[in-house]
Amino acid sequence: MQNDKTKQSVIIVGGGWAGLTCATELASMGYQITLLESARQLGGRARRVAFDDQPVDNGQHILIGAYRETFAVLKRLNISLSKSIDRRALNLLFQYCGGRKFNLKLPALLTPLNLFIGLLKAKGFSARDRWHALIFGSKLFSNSVFYESDISVSELLSNEKQTENNIKALWEPLCLASLNTPIEEASARVFVRILHDTFCRSHKDADLVIPKIDLGALLPDPASDFIEQHSGTVHLSKRVTNIDIVQRHVVGVRCENEVYKADHVVLALPPHACLPLIKDHSALHDIAYNFNSFSYNPIVTAYVKYPTSVRPNLPIQALLGTTSQWIVSRDVAGQPGLIAVVISGPGPHMQLDNDQLANTIKSELANCFPHWPQADDVKIIREKRATYSCRVGIDLLRPDNKTRINGLWLAGDYTKTSYPATIESAVISGKRTAELINQI
Ligand SMILES: Cc1cc2nc3c(=O)[nH]c(=O)nc-3n(C[C@H](O)[C@H](O)[C@H](O)COP(=O)(O)OP(=O)(O)OC[C@H]3O[C@@H](n4cnc5c(N)ncnc54)[C@H](O)[C@@H]3O)c2cc1C
Repeated sequence: MQNDKTKQSVIIVGGGWAGLTCATELASMGYQITLLESARQLGGRARRVAFDDQPVDNGQHILIGAYRETFAVLKRLNISLSKSIDRRALNLLFQYCGGRKFNLKLPALLTPLNLFIGLLKAKGFSARDRWHALIFGSKLFSNSVFYESDISVSELLSNEKQTENNIKALWEPLCLASLNTPIEEASARVFVRILHDTFCRSHKDADLVIPKIDLGALLPDPASDFIEQHSGTVHLSKRVTNIDIVQRHVVGVRCENEVYKADHVVLALPPHACLPLIKDHSALHDIAYNFNSFSYNPIVTAYVKYPTSVRPNLPIQALLGTTSQWIVSRDVAGQPGLIAVVISGPGPHMQLDNDQLANTIKSELANCFPHWPQADDVKIIREKRATYSCRVGIDLLRPDNKTRINGLWLAGDYTKTSYPATIESAVISGKRTAELINQI
């Protein structure tokens, strides 16, 4: 059985980016894949949705140059990166509506020179702001930001003597965008890791990357074709209701009364969707216990339609002191005039209904960009459980891919990777699970 992979069958439960990565990796190694997805489409939390006649995403996703495994998977599926993503050196503008502006632009120099010169020349910050940011940057680079036990990002920033401008106009927006968790609750350990990976390895890692095509076309569609070309099957609208385990060995899954048998089962689901499947199996009680401790944060994306003449100078900008946090021009995705407004994390905006929230966002944009014409239409998409809350101590809850049940595996953005809940984390976990299965 070990040498004849073509005879081994694997059921992947969940067609998000973790499940699809795992499925395509295993399919290319000769495993017989059956992918079961409960929704009517693939992609999970990174999927295509329709806005009138245009394809958009369930949430505007922003990637960074450090997403090496994501780009590697796209390349393995023969997806042309030049046609599918817009990649450019980091140039971030943070602005209070009608007020102060801050700009961090990284020059095309080797790390850490790019970071140090970028911080030295950052606009809007005082000499004192820049000095403290530089000291923090050099500690990140030399890997000397270390705490015995995890602390919150706000505690970290205060320990590192970050000024109010640095916190409000740099670290807080970056923390919310990358961890989807307010700085008072967010894990300093994860934040430091992501800052290190972004700014301290290669200068290309800090690049900002925006998909030029919808997320469904980026990975789920080609991945599904790839699985089927490798004799696998992809089933949509199939909710797995049970996993079948005999003497500590997984033998398959059920969708109500339908039985699917396999040598391995990969649960590529978020913790809240895994829980009902594992909670009755005593060997998995410790994992179920940890899953109960996960909490989740929302992300709202508002797609605001303007006349096509609205073309911001930068594709991404951050707004400070407003409900709207980031605005992304969909011009890069061939949709001029369409602006995606992103609001990460919890907040009073979640109490507003869609009309109230749309009006708030439209009036904020009208204040910040008075030269823009009136917006035509707004589509609000709320993902209430967009990501797990990446709070202090989260690393202790994140499981390995291997479980105590032979043949049963966990994949997903929440498993033990160095990244917070991101596409890169989902892809790393899917790839790692495939490698572990192949090592057996
Ligand atoms: C609005 C929003 C904005 C985001 N922005 C960014 C960003 O800018 N950059 C970034 O890197 N990341 C971002 N993320 C995070 C990123 O999308 C996720 O980390 C990633 O998609 C998670 O993938 P996954 O495969 O681990 O899980 P999921 O995508 O949740 O996949 C799980 C799949 O399992 C299916 N499923 C559930 N239960 C069952 C069952 N019982 N049987 C069968 N199938 C089942 C689900 O339908 C789903 O398709 C964002 C997420 C959201 C929601």
